[in-house]
Amino acid sequence: MHELPVIEKILRIVLLRARDSGVEEVRAIHLKIGELSDLEEEWMQRYFDYCSRGTLAEGSRLVIEKVPVRVRCRECGHEFPLDLATGENRFCPKCNSPKYTLVSGQGYFLESIEAI
Ligand SMILES: [Zn+2]
Repeated sequence: MHELPVIEKILRIVLLRARDSGVEEVRAIHLKIGELSDLEEEWMQRYFDYCSRGTLAEGSRLVIEKVPVRVRCRECGHEFPLDLATGENRFCPKCNSPKYTLVSGQGYFLESIEAI
């Protein structure tokens, strides 16, 4: 259910941008979603189809790209990917520290809009 408010926000931005640039029809919306986010693509498209009915964006496709999780070591500042599936690379490959902060992999971004 948490996909719905996200979709409403995205749709609002898409429609504003479409209106500003005199678009007739939005074809596709490119989104980036962090791997840590629990937004489900299938539900996002369903909610989008529902919310966009009767708007410029009706019938457009959500193109979703997953953003991998990257962290920065708090000891030496080295940045490295964190593989959540295998649980590997949990220590900094440079200094072996287990302390790091998240750099990317959370939240979502509106990347671009395809329109005519
Ligand atoms: Zn380190």
